[in-house]
Amino acid sequence: MPTYDWQDTIVAIATPPGHGGIGIVRLSGERALDIGATLFRGRRTLARHPFRLLRGTFLDITADETIDDGLAVYFPTPRSFTGEDVVELHAHGSPVVLRRLVACAMREGARAARPGEFTLRAVRHGRLDLAQAEGLRDLIHAQTTYQARLAAQQMRGALSTRLQPLKEQLLTTIVHLESAVEFVEEQLDTHSRATLVEELSHLETQVRQLAATYRAGRLIREGLALAIVGRPNVGKSSLFNALLDADRAIVTDVAGTTRDTLQEVATIGELPVRLMDTAGIRDTSDIVERMGVERSYRALADADIVLFVVDAAAGPHPDERQVIGHLRQRQAICVVNKLDLMPSVVPFELFLQEHDLTCPVVGVSAHTRAGLAELKATIQQVAVGSSFDTSQDWLVTDARHAAALTAAAEALGCARELLAEGHSEEVPLAELHRALHALGDITGETGIEEVFDRIFATFCIGK
Ligand code: GDP
Ligand code: ZN
Repeated sequence: MPTYDWQDTIVAIATPPGHGGIGIVRLSGERALDIGATLFRGRRTLARHPFRLLRGTFLDITADETIDDGLAVYFPTPRSFTGEDVVELHAHGSPVVLRRLVACAMREGARAARPGEFTLRAVRHGRLDLAQAEGLRDLIHAQTTYQARLAAQQMRGALSTRLQPLKEQLLTTIVHLESAVEFVEEQLDTHSRATLVEELSHLETQVRQLAATYRAGRLIREGLALAIVGRPNVGKSSLFNALLDADRAIVTDVAGTTRDTLQEVATIGELPVRLMDTAGIRDTSDIVERMGVERSYRALADADIVLFVVDAAAGPHPDERQVIGHLRQRQAICVVNKLDLMPSVVPFELFLQEHDLTCPVVGVSAHTRAGLAELKATIQQVAVGSSFDTSQDWLVTDARHAAALTAAAEALGCARELLAEGHSEEVPLAELHRALHALGDITGETGIEEVFDRIFATFCIGK
């Protein structure tokens, strides 16, 4: 972690690289207004008109030259994104203009901002907590609507508000135990121990429930790798296209045309999915085709879920036994394609039974698109379980948060057991502090001073 000089006024281009209609340079810090006022000249001054977008020109005073016409706005502390004085210069989206504005600002004493430094300052000044800042980062990087919705939720404090009551409860318990350690007359009797054990167990369950949402949350974040495998000509590429809603892969009548693994990113339900179309798998002596088959097996091994495509019209084929062999330890769905030609999946259900493979069987037609909705629902169900519900407004999507929640739950579990086993209060206390720390890490607070404050408060009131 680099050391940050919080006194510095920082500057950076806030809009993405490249050319655009507008480009924004942002300044934050004590000297933001000074520097902004040097660069910007308008009929009205920034200092006198905060929160107003003012029209004017940008000047390079050293070169005595006008750089661009544009708008500027001043957000005085603390009512800005970072909580510091912030000035935004809205120029035309020319990289040359924007870089020159940054250079001029630096000449006036600003320093180039490090990655994430505006957000870091916002966290430091209490405008956002860490989890919210991470939500903002995720919102910016979201690739699907659902990802964006979850990230926006988190940015607005969805995780932080859920954690708050849990932390409060934990603090109360800690305070209770701390005073039992401190004062003989407050030592726990059997009854209050039992009550505490029960409270801790309830708390642990809630924390575990939060942590458990990461199973779906991880998939929402990282996406799902889905390999489409099967014999040549069963309709893998057609299914790939049907799932993508576009004609991307080449579909032909000649067996063995897809020699390489094709990849596209799509969304199934609300899940981002990396779809892989692979070369047909069959027994072959052709060396080139053989290599394609190897690649198909590799894609199969890398996938989270394998779509094993078979041809309803052709019926089960001996070459399919090999594929089934590779599916044993994997999450698979058997997709019976060309249902328009032969409307039954039964022969394949029997075939799979014969070969001892248990997996969902879904009939589809890549041509008529029949059964595709059911296939998508099955994919979603296999991926995250039937409890997955995308109307759910919130999930843990960050590995760091999931790890902290799990650590907290484990510490709570230990504390509960230690307490139940009759250990003296110090012993479970250490675990409870660990749990509190873990929860505090999520929002980026230390948490511990807070505990001391509370204890102090109870001393004053209680004694
Ligand atoms: P791949 O080799 O497994 O990728 O199969 P393709 O997607 O290239 O399709 C092979 C042949 O089957 C093509 O002639 C497709 O038009 C045909 N085909 C694919 N899906 C269907 C389907 O659902 N119904 C029918 N009747 N034909 C299909
Ligand atoms: Zn193909």
